[in-house]
Amino acid sequence: MVIKKIGEITDEVQDIEMTVKILSLSQKERNSDKGNSVYHYGLLGDETGVLPFTAWNISSIVKEKDVVNIKRAYTKKYNDKIRIYFDDKTEFALMPGVEMEVKRTYNYEKIRNLGTGSKFVALEGILSEEKEREFETNGEKRKVYSYVMEDDTGSIRLSSFGRKLPMGHGIRLEGVKIEEFNGRINASVGEKAEVQEIELQIEKGPKFTYISEIENPIGGLYISGFPISIGEKSGLIKRCKECKKKIDDERCETHPDAGFYFDIFAYFNIDDGTGYISVTSGMEALKDICGIKSDELSNEKRPPLRKEIYERIEHSLMGKALKVQGSLSKNTMGMSLRASLISSIGPEDNKELKKIMESEFL
Ligand SMILES: [Zn+2]
Repeated sequence: MVIKKIGEITDEVQDIEMTVKILSLSQKERNSDKGNSVYHYGLLGDETGVLPFTAWNISSIVKEKDVVNIKRAYTKKYNDKIRIYFDDKTEFALMPGVEMEVKRTYNYEKIRNLGTGSKFVALEGILSEEKEREFETNGEKRKVYSYVMEDDTGSIRLSSFGRKLPMGHGIRLEGVKIEEFNGRINASVGEKAEVQEIELQIEKGPKFTYISEIENPIGGLYISGFPISIGEKSGLIKRCKECKKKIDDERCETHPDAGFYFDIFAYFNIDDGTGYISVTSGMEALKDICGIKSDELSNEKRPPLRKEIYERIEHSLMGKALKVQGSLSKNTMGMSLRASLISSIGPEDNKELKKIMESEFL
C-alpha cells in the first residue's frame, strides 16, 4: 500500500492509503441488469488539494466534514480527469478530533463559458488597461485595481482589491469571484487569491463568435453578418452639455440652461445565418463606416439634418456585410451587443472567416 497526499496524485494508482476530509457526500441510484443499487460520490481533500471520488461502497460511519483515514482506495481517469474510487475492499477509520485545513482548488473555466450565476473559479488570461480607484470600507481607505482580462475566447472586467496584478503576460488566478452586475459578468479577486505566472499565447485581435453560440455577457468579441432592420429612432440625437444624457425635448430636465450638442446613435439587428442579435452603437463605432465627421455635427452654419443623417446611417449599414466588435450585455429584452467598432468585411476577414469555418467543420 502507498500513502499519498491528494496533491501528489496525478495518475492511476492502486492500493492507496490517505487521510482526508470529506468535503461533500451525495448518493445516486444506479439501475443495471442486476437490479437497483446505490452509490456515493463527492469531493475530498487534504492540505495539498481536492479530488472527486466515487464510492461503490462506503462505510455508513462516514459523514460530510469528517476526517477519515482510508485504506485500499484506487484512482482512475474518468473523462480524462483523475478520480478516487472506493469499493468493497476499501477500509474507513474516522479520526475524531483531527483538524484539517483543506487546500481549495477551483474549476478552471474559459471566459466564454463563464455563466452568470455567482461562483468561484480559476481563470487564465492576460491583463491590460489598468485603472486605479480608491474606496472606503469601515472608515479605512483601500485601493482597487481594475483590468480587462482576455483569453482566447473573450474578455471580461476584473477587479483586484488592494493589490496590483502583473500585466502583459499570462497569469492564472485561483478563486476568482464571478458575479453578474448591470447585465454583465464581473470578476474580482481579493488579496489572498493565488496568482501564478504562466506561459500563455493569445492571438491578437477580437474573438469571432457565432450569434447562436452567444450565451454569456462577456466582452472582446466580434460577430459578422448583415443588418436586417434598423431602429427608427436611430440617427441624430441631442445631448445635454452638462450631463451628456440624451434629451428628448429642447432642454435637459435637470439642466435646463445648459444647452445641447448633436451626437449620433444607431440600433439595429444583425443576422449571421445562425441567429440575430440587437446591436447598439454610438459615434465612435459609426463614424468610419458611415463617413460622418464630428465637425459636421457641430457646424453651426449648417446644422445637421435628422433625415439626412438617418439615411446615411441606413445606407451604410443595411444589407452590407459587417464586422461588429464589442461587449455583450444582458437586459430584459435578452442579450445585446454594444459596438465599439463597426467595419466592412474585407478580404483579410474573409480569409480569417474561412479559416474559422474550416477548423469548425473539418
Ligand atoms: Zn443634463
